Amino acid sequence: MEPGHHPNVAAEFAKRRRAMWRAVLPWGALAALAFVVGFFVGNPGEDATQPERIIGTTAFFVLVAAFAISLWRMRCIYRCPSCEKPLMDAEGIHYAPDSCPKCGVKLSPPTHPHS
Ligand SMILES: [Zn+2]
Repeated sequence: MEPGHHPNVAAEFAKRRRAMWRAVLPWGALAALAFVVGFFVGNPGEDATQPERIIGTTAFFVLVAAFAISLWRMRCIYRCPSCEKPLMDAEGIHYAPDSCPKCGVKLSPPTHPHS
């Protein structure tokens, strides 16, 4: 679909935000798991055994990869339906903005959805 052709930008935005969460949550969970495993099992110290080193290093790379993938998925999915720009920048992620910071289109749902 071409930019600016969504009949209901707010509804499309809400759909994209849900899709973004569905795409990102498994990776977030994996990152959290890797963090926990790395923190409790991994041992970066001098006295670390070989398995502890391997688990610690693996957990670290899994954590970094899962984090990078979640950011990438977010960038791909979490875009303004009107101008198709990602709703994240150097300032962070614009979660539930009233309007698009790039093109200014209204993104919040209408106050009276049933009217
Ligand atoms: Zn926009």
